[in-house]
Amino acid sequence: MANAILAVGLGGIGLLIIAMVALRKASAGLYLFRRLATRRMGRQRPRLASSNELVVLLCGTGSPLPDPDRAGPSALVAAGDRFFVIDAGIASVRNLLLWRVSLDQLGGILVTHFHSDHIAELGELNLQSWVAGRGVPLKVYGPPGIERVITGFNQAYAHDTAYRILHHGKDLLHSHVAGLEAITVTMPAADHTAVVFEADGLKITAIRVHHDPAKPAYGYRFDYRGRSVVISGDTAADQNLARAATGTDVLVHDALNPQMIKALEEAMTASGNLRAAKIMRDIPSYHASPIEAAQIANSTGARLLVLTHMLPMLPNGAARRLFLSGVRAIRPDGVMLGCDGHLFRLPAESTVIHTTRLRA
Ligand SMILES: [Zn+2]
Ligand SMILES: [Zn+2]
Repeated sequence: MANAILAVGLGGIGLLIIAMVALRKASAGLYLFRRLATRRMGRQRPRLASSNELVVLLCGTGSPLPDPDRAGPSALVAAGDRFFVIDAGIASVRNLLLWRVSLDQLGGILVTHFHSDHIAELGELNLQSWVAGRGVPLKVYGPPGIERVITGFNQAYAHDTAYRILHHGKDLLHSHVAGLEAITVTMPAADHTAVVFEADGLKITAIRVHHDPAKPAYGYRFDYRGRSVVISGDTAADQNLARAATGTDVLVHDALNPQMIKALEEAMTASGNLRAAKIMRDIPSYHASPIEAAQIANSTGARLLVLTHMLPMLPNGAARRLFLSGVRAIRPDGVMLGCDGHLFRLPAESTVIHTTRLRA
């Protein structure tokens, strides 16, 4: 009996020791978590561009095809304390958040066209910038038809907006800046460009490009203090874009390798996936090949051509080399494959381009 009592006693002490160790581990874990959280919260990225530079950040360099390494199409252009996002592809907003870009100062979104891969995260970008404290409604510039897209997004998010205001309070989340505001960019048939925005030395020009039947489709040119960047949007090789991009420093251009897409189509046909094969057959008509993008870049005199919206996916070095085959013969220098996080800094009134890459 005494032994039994002793055993229970020792068992109780053992449990007590285990409980104390677990408690200490838990509190140590919580202490570490708190320290990490404090450090992480203190690392909000300062503004992307100084008053003396134009900056381009690739937020998504993929296409509608699923790619673990590339978000859907999106780019950010910053000039001084303003920045705009061009298109909002799948997972591009998550990239921005992982890179700790402060979205409360987002100046607007420029939509190139209404294919789903370019508008997928308009709602998410609006929500995240609103929650971050954006103080004015978020303007979304785009071709005629943008009003319908924005009305739809605002309706789809109406429940969510109401829940969040109820939960967090109207002093934190202001309802009058919750919705997206459509700004239609019209371009008379005889014109090929239209100025969208001009203030404090930054000028944004919409450029008509060729992406039929997605029509009209635009690219955008940004000029700031003697530097410029052109985002092509989705387009076949287009002389209008080439003219409007004349003298640009950086040309970010859509690219599809027709030989690789043809090989994909044949593989799909052979495996009986005729629906996917039909889509592969159709898409080369409205995207430029890497060689065509290089020719356009040469004709504009662009210092740097950055390929984006890669079709097909490029999972390894061999695929990337195949994608670029024939390009070097046309443009030996000043070509690169864009990756999510690539950031290009263009100091004012110079010819320098600094390239870095943001990582989460
Ligand atoms: Zn498209
Ligand atoms: Zn696209």
